[in-house]
Amino acid sequence: DPRISNISSAIRVIPDFPKPGIIFQDITTLLLDTKAFRDTIDLFVERYRGKDISVVAGIEARGFIFGPPIALAIGAKFVPMRKPNKLPGEVLSEEYSLEYGKDTMEMHVDAVKAGERALIIDDLVATGGTLSAAIRLLERVGVHVVECACVIELPELKGRERLGEKPLFVLVSST
Ligand code: 5GP
Repeated sequence: DPRISNISSAIRVIPDFPKPGIIFQDITTLLLDTKAFRDTIDLFVERYRGKDISVVAGIEARGFIFGPPIALAIGAKFVPMRKPNKLPGEVLSEEYSLEYGKDTMEMHVDAVKAGERALIIDDLVATGGTLSAAIRLLERVGVHVVECACVIELPELKGRERLGEKPLFVLVSST
């Protein structure tokens, strides 16, 4: 798709952020490029429209940027998957491992119903630990996760393998 190379060029790469040795993919520059941002949303909407998806689950924080416009366009609700102790209602929690240490993800239990079909959105997949936690949270309440979708994949970190059978759709692969 000719739109992909523009999207790829609109993502800024910042070395040694947030710490030495990490090459950070900065999607804030993609948001400044109105055509590239619109194309990003359109590519996801074209893929997921008409697929009977009633839940778009967005992962804090950058999944909150891409998820809501996709949800509105395909007629699905938006469900935030948040860092711990942010959601005020009754939550389900999942722990997941980071490069150093652990984190927890939370979801409101009354946001989804068993049998619903969900799409999970984040900006980037690295090791796949974050997406795996989101899949577990949704599947625990009987939601069917149709696919995970990210703007960027870092294939060297093998996140796709960690997701097992669960399909992963990305726009840009970064090596
Ligand atoms: P994973 O759990 O797959 O190892 O890491 C993915 C999570 O870390 C995502 O929520 C993503 O936002 C964040 N992340 C890790 N590295 C980067 C990066 O280089 N750029 C951006 N934008 N996010 C990153």
